[in-house]
Amino acid sequence: MQPATQAWWFAAVRLLGTVLLGSTVGWLFGNTWGGLACALVLHLAWVLANLFRLEWWLRHRSYADPPDVGGVWGEIIAQIVRLHRRKRFHKQRFVQLMRQLQRSTAALPDGVVILNAQREIVWFNRMAGRLLNLRRVGDLGMRVEHLLRAPEFVRYLAGHDFSNPVTVRTTSGEDGFLSLQVAPYGEGQLLLLVRDVTRQMRLEAVRRDFVANASHELRSPLTVISGYLETLAQEGGLDPELKGPVAEMRRQAERMTTIIRDLLELSRLEETEEIEGGVPVDVAALAALLRKDVLARPVHPHEVRLRIESPLQLVGDEPEIHSAFSNLVDNAAKYTPAEGSIEIRWWADEEGGHFAVTDTGMGIPPEHIPRLTERFYRVDRGRSRATGGSGLGLAIVKHVLQRHGARLEVQSEIDAGSCFVCHFPPQRLVPAQRALTSATG
Ligand code: ADP
Repeated sequence: MQPATQAWWFAAVRLLGTVLLGSTVGWLFGNTWGGLACALVLHLAWVLANLFRLEWWLRHRSYADPPDVGGVWGEIIAQIVRLHRRKRFHKQRFVQLMRQLQRSTAALPDGVVILNAQREIVWFNRMAGRLLNLRRVGDLGMRVEHLLRAPEFVRYLAGHDFSNPVTVRTTSGEDGFLSLQVAPYGEGQLLLLVRDVTRQMRLEAVRRDFVANASHELRSPLTVISGYLETLAQEGGLDPELKGPVAEMRRQAERMTTIIRDLLELSRLEETEEIEGGVPVDVAALAALLRKDVLARPVHPHEVRLRIESPLQLVGDEPEIHSAFSNLVDNAAKYTPAEGSIEIRWWADEEGGHFAVTDTGMGIPPEHIPRLTERFYRVDRGRSRATGGSGLGLAIVKHVLQRHGARLEVQSEIDAGSCFVCHFPPQRLVPAQRALTSATG
């Protein structure tokens, strides 16, 4: 029999014994009910005394020993002691875990901030406090955008795409940069990861400056070389044996000029972040111009169709948009045979404006598509060189689109053709009428 069951049996027997003893003694004295009542009162007093000891011990259990009682009361006290021990064990483990967690987050080289669904700061580690100038007293419970006011971050937080981090300048006076990335978890809570990227940004700036300076320095000597080569090619008395090499040298000098021009354009695009506003660009007129350029090539796809399905205009930097669209149309013309065709399409819907260039050319193997916008990335080096490509065209397209809050989508099938679509956000679109007034006004 279980000790608890045994204790209950014992309590029942004791109660029965008390009842029998009380009524027998009462009967002997000629008052059975009185004897029974006395016995029950004594029993009740004993129960109350045990209850009192139990309640007193529960109040002072942190230092007092449990009362030494047997029977059911002893069982109840033993159960409470066991529960209490288990609770203390779990609490100690929890505290240990919390300390370990705190120590490990303090040792993290990155800052971590926990935000609740209202974007209020719930907790942050030491590094986050250092990088964001947060104070434990005062800043806990504050909305994060009230403390981190960089417009890029406020916009990032208001959006729903947290797949990439956003880079902002440090809030302290120093010329530093922070990378902020949000990771949603639980029910609306956010984990904000903060990293100091000042060193990377400086290295990036050094690299950018180097490329820009080197391209700039190379431009002048190349102009002189190209000039002499041109004069030499036009020279009547040029040795016929030299004609071929001079023509090849001119072609290569032209390629170098294109590469340097594109490198300079890329460095210029990298200098500033997103473009706010701009002028309205008449996409229909631009597309017609690009179509003409393709048809003016000595060899070009036999059909170049225009599908302008929206009268809306695109607000942005006109030369940049021209450069991006012309790169896409140029590529379609370069990589599509004469018997193929190209379609230039412009349309708008609730998601924004879309400019697509579709060709029936050679297509691109799927494994190359994610890397197309990298500098000097070519699917087929020989093919690109033969067409005079610099390998920088799509990198320029990507940068221009980024600066306009737009993105590039590429679909392609080998030997069937490719489709490059630029998706612009709706706020970049204006009706032609408004465009006219803002252009003239
Ligand atoms: P390039 O100056 O070499 O054309 P880009 O950056 O413009 O450089 O393009 C990168 C590579 O992507 C090209 O070398 C080419 O292999 C491929 N590519 C771009 N557009 C097309 C297209 N419409 N059809 C097939 N391949 C393309």
